Order: sequence, then structure tokens, then C-alpha cells
Amino acid sequence: MKVVLHICCGVCAAGAITVLLNEGYKITGFFFNPNIYPEAEFHKRLQAVHHIAKLFQFHLDVAPYSPEEWFEKTSLLMDEPEGGKRCEICYRLRLERTYHHMLHCGADFFTTTLTVSPHKKASVVNKIGIGISSDRFLVHDFKKHEGFKRAIQIAKEQGIYRQNYCGCIYSIREQRG
Ligand code: SF4
Repeated sequence: MKVVLHICCGVCAAGAITVLLNEGYKITGFFFNPNIYPEAEFHKRLQAVHHIAKLFQFHLDVAPYSPEEWFEKTSLLMDEPEGGKRCEICYRLRLERTYHHMLHCGADFFTTTLTVSPHKKASVVNKIGIGISSDRFLVHDFKKHEGFKRAIQIAKEQGIYRQNYCGCIYSIREQRG
């Protein structure tokens, strides 16, 4: 069975990929992240994802940097804290596009690396995925069973870029230590 895996960054890709491979899926990675600011940061994260794709030998599709729609949809929510309403819109935008990419590729399922992060509630991400397509979305909480720890370990071993903020311009002010 084929799955399109939405990938937010190299670290989270490292955490999710082994789970899906162990489950027997053939993976197409999909890098679609119009939330990332600035553009140089988008390319840094993409470079880390290319590294992981090469390491685990899966195909990677990349959507070019196009933040306009993301800014339009979140402009009234700039003061929301990380994990609030703005993030739900951000997750939905990326998951909807991944769903359409799955249809375009003729894959069976779609899912996302977003649940690797301890800063993201899997219940919120999964609810949005199920709302888009209950029978095509693979429900996961990749941070479980030491998924986040494994992601950090692989990232360290491989020397890939690890960001210290979620991604958007608004999250820069909530930089993580
Ligand atoms: S904090 Fe992260 S998830 Fe929330 S809107 Fe910004 S980039 Fe998206």
C-alpha cells in the first residue's frame, strides 16, 4: 500500500519514517510548507528532508515556496499562541493539499509528520485529517513509543538542521531553547 507522507522538516521525517516502513508502506514524501518564514528557512528545512529521503530511500515531491495563501488565511490570527486557532488552519491547509497530492499520485493513504513534535497535539492533527477523509487518512501519534527521541537521535547522528521555532513568522517570537 502507498502512503503520501506530509513532511514538515527533516527531524520529524526521521521520527515518522521508520514507523511507516515497519508497517510495510511504500512512502512518497511531500514537502508542502507555505507557513515557513523566511524563505531561506524553507530551503534549510528542505535540505534536511532531502538528506533523510536519501538515507531512507523514499521518493520526495516538493511544492515550491508559496506563502501567500497561508498569510491570507492566518492574517487575523497573528496573536494566537502556538497550538491555538492559527495552527489548526495551518495544519488543515497542509493536510488538504497532501490529500490532493495523494489523489494525484494514485496513492492509497495520506498522513503527516506533524505529530512527531511534542508541541503539537495529535488529537487536533488527527481530527483534521479524519475530517478531510476518514477512510484515507492514517491516524498516528508519531511522538509515542519514543518517536520524538528517535527523531532527535537520527538528526544528531546525521548532522541535519534542527530548527528552534515551529515555522511561521509569528512563532519566531516563541522560539524554543
Ligand atoms: S506556530 Fe507552527 S503550526 Fe502554528 S501557525 Fe505557526 S507554523 Fe503553523
